[in-house]
Amino acid sequence: MQRDIMRYLNPSLRDIAAYSVEGGQQAAIKLNQNESPFDLPMWLKEAIVSEFVREPWNRYPDILPYRGTKAYADFLGVPAEGVMMGNGSNELLYTIFLACLGPGRKILVPDPSFSLYEKLALLLQASLVRVPLKASLDFDVDAIIQSAQEESVDFVVLSSPNNPTGKSITFDDIRRIASSCDALVLVDEAYIEFSRQDSALPLIEEFPNLVVLRTMSKALALAGMRIGFAIGRPELIAEIAKPKIPFASSRLAEITLMHVLENYAIVTDAVSYILNARDELYGELLSVQGVEPFMSDTNFLVIRVPDADAMFRKLIGRGILVRNVSGYHLMKNCLRFNIGLPDENSRLLDALLAINGGMA
Ligand code: PMP
Repeated sequence: MQRDIMRYLNPSLRDIAAYSVEGGQQAAIKLNQNESPFDLPMWLKEAIVSEFVREPWNRYPDILPYRGTKAYADFLGVPAEGVMMGNGSNELLYTIFLACLGPGRKILVPDPSFSLYEKLALLLQASLVRVPLKASLDFDVDAIIQSAQEESVDFVVLSSPNNPTGKSITFDDIRRIASSCDALVLVDEAYIEFSRQDSALPLIEEFPNLVVLRTMSKALALAGMRIGFAIGRPELIAEIAKPKIPFASSRLAEITLMHVLENYAIVTDAVSYILNARDELYGELLSVQGVEPFMSDTNFLVIRVPDADAMFRKLIGRGILVRNVSGYHLMKNCLRFNIGLPDENSRLLDALLAINGGMA
């Protein structure tokens, strides 16, 4: 019998695509996923693993990972009841979106922003209110507030600093948004350690409708371990944790987190290297003909070039994998790449210079 399997499935699957990374995840110089270029030192990995082997692998971890949750809450100086740990911040995005959205519900997303927000909203059959960024790729805060009020949205999601642009909303503007919108406001701070702006965390005391999302995949260099957190008022966290996948964080993730937080100097050293290298590379890119770099509050830079598709392919030809973000609204001919090791950054710069010379 011929069957149309789509008839059995959620109709919104027709509107979304599986998550993919153009160019793949392997390259000699891999700068396309905003990862840290520094793996943990071997002595720390060995300490983590030797603790992990003493755990009972046949037993489930805790339903909610209270050891990791408590460690991060203590690190931030907030109550553990106000913190939810997840298998990467992506898992928490699924959790919070499930808690907040469904048919008939409305979400406001600045455009462009992290692609998963739109995909989840579509999957949950919520209606999307997209608010364009300014041409400079800065947030249009007045337009966000106006649309949120006019459209009576239930949920406002802000990636600040924003992926894929690298730009932030100021602390004061987040306060304005949280106070003037009758909605849950999620501030995804995946890149906050690299930002010139202060974290929105202190605003949680003031606003019961605010949730802050953090990841350990960027500054903490733990993308392979899958650790993220949501922070909010305990009464809000208790509600939005209801759809959470039970046992989603492994014992290994909890142990790793505790060890890295105990050795946080490793993180601050890496961040200070990345900030210096970012600002130096930005300065150098300013003088590359045909390349327009954007100021960034993250561990990555965005540049505009005359032909992003051609540049993307030519860089791959030299073993350098960046992200072609030119399909995003307002980002025609833009490429995004994270800061790598010193040698990787200079090879990228040399390649841009050489390719542009060849293209001119
Ligand atoms: N939010 C933003 C803005 C991101 O850029 C990313 C990773 N690209 C994530 C969330 C997800 O991070 P993870 O699941 O690794 O914590």
